[in-house]
Amino acid sequence: MFTATGNDWAQRAAVLRLRTRMFIDGEWVDGSAEPLSPISPRDGRELPSISAASAQDVDHAVRSARRSFESGVWSGLAPRERGQLLIAFAQKIHDEAEELALTISLEMGKPIREALQTELRAVVNCFRWYGEAADKALDEVPVTAPGSLALVTREAAGVVAAVVPWNFPLTMTAWKLAPALAVGNSVVLKPAEHTTFSALRLAELAHEAGIPAGVLNVTPGTGQIAGRALGEHPDVDVVTFTGSPEVGRKFLGYSAASNGKRVWPELGGKTASLVMPDADLERAVRATADGCFYNQGQMCTASSRLLVPRAQRDRALEIAADVARTSLPSDPFSISTGMGAIVSERQLQSISGFVERAQEQGGELAAGTAERFTAVDGGSYFAPVVLGVTPAHEIAQREVFGPVLSVIGYDDVEDALAIANGTEFGLAAALWSNDLTTVHTLSRRLRAGIVWVNCFEEGDMTVPFGGVKGSGFGRDKSLHAMEKFTDLKTTWIALS
Ligand code: NAP
Ligand code: MG
Repeated sequence: MFTATGNDWAQRAAVLRLRTRMFIDGEWVDGSAEPLSPISPRDGRELPSISAASAQDVDHAVRSARRSFESGVWSGLAPRERGQLLIAFAQKIHDEAEELALTISLEMGKPIREALQTELRAVVNCFRWYGEAADKALDEVPVTAPGSLALVTREAAGVVAAVVPWNFPLTMTAWKLAPALAVGNSVVLKPAEHTTFSALRLAELAHEAGIPAGVLNVTPGTGQIAGRALGEHPDVDVVTFTGSPEVGRKFLGYSAASNGKRVWPELGGKTASLVMPDADLERAVRATADGCFYNQGQMCTASSRLLVPRAQRDRALEIAADVARTSLPSDPFSISTGMGAIVSERQLQSISGFVERAQEQGGELAAGTAERFTAVDGGSYFAPVVLGVTPAHEIAQREVFGPVLSVIGYDDVEDALAIANGTEFGLAAALWSNDLTTVHTLSRRLRAGIVWVNCFEEGDMTVPFGGVKGSGFGRDKSLHAMEKFTDLKTTWIALS
């Protein structure tokens, strides 16, 4: 599964049929907002323009979702039937994996190999997993007095709006859609502007797999217009969001100003990788650097802070610099490429600005530069950077969302913990130690939703993903994600 069937990706991209209209109520329709003008970051090429949703179009999509929900075409199916349709959808995605992977690579610059073997594999697995889980949930019958019977049941929330980012476009979408659909909701998806083509194709495949019209609608458009309209819509019951802290908080505001809808924000991160003195330094540093540069550093979990004992700092900088120098970007359409393009020129300028300011503030550059890198003419590329910094530097506090690793020396365990916990974020942390007591005590004291011990970025569908503090409180994956899209109902029956 997912072994590429050729290496002619550029030719295939040239003839790829891209969907460019909104998908509402099972039909392609034109939006009335200013169309989107996407650019491929691989080579700066203009891609076909995409119809964009106005607030009125978003209202049309929400009404279609509401209608399908109330009709019971999906919400009223036996959970097992819904599950089977989600599994059929997973199979469709599996069958079209190469086309979807190529679409992602074209629109956001991820290497084709990663798109296919990591992203599409995760997407298929996610829909299949929730399809299999759909009929495994149990409701509750609490023990009450003899003259009564209480039922505690879970009901689908209704209309769910999913607003997602571009870095793992279909994975993030799957993490939202699969549990929301599994429990019977109807959904309106607003993809990121950069990754709309793949989302539109996904919706088409859902339709082909037999998911009824109106159950999954896609309203492409800008965050300012289409995203906001979903956030403010009085008939949306739940918003599930992954993206930046600023926009996540806007959704909380939209909710407060409209109908008090539930908002599940999953926001940024500033993952610390904490290397204890007893750990294998080389292994820990290599895994941390790889974890920071993966997906061109455009990861909310990117291990962007490496914390090592002060005496090992110089050695750690050398090892990380070696990883950086051997992880240079190249053509995303070559199957051997491990690092591709940065999503946009704007993002590239932002990353470059962070590196410039870090140097001005006294950061010590061990690998890379603030300048762009050329891999394919006209594209947006940036070679990995390693910097020796102190915890107060901007680069050690703010999310860069690019391949920039900050290496920080610590004095003792308390100092290391204070640094690790000393940002506004709390998504993930990594801990490297072979000492049982250290592992347990420190993993409890790390303020993060995920702690990886002696590994990085591990997990599967069975475990929740999400953060604390400024990283938001939404949780994707696992059976818990299904709870986010349901309401508890108590039915109390008097028997006498
Ligand atoms: P973003 O700017 O917050 O955008 C996320 C989504 O929100 C996009 O669809 C965007 O539309 C939309 N949006 C933007 N402004 C909006 C507004 N005013 N009202 C309503 N919707 C709006 O984030 P991004 O730049 O795409 O992605 C990078 C961020 O996502 C990073 O901070 C990263 O850490 C975070 N992230 C977190 C996770 C996680 O699981 N915790 C995973 C991946 C990424 P447009 O496309 O028009 O901007
Ligand atoms: Mg943005």
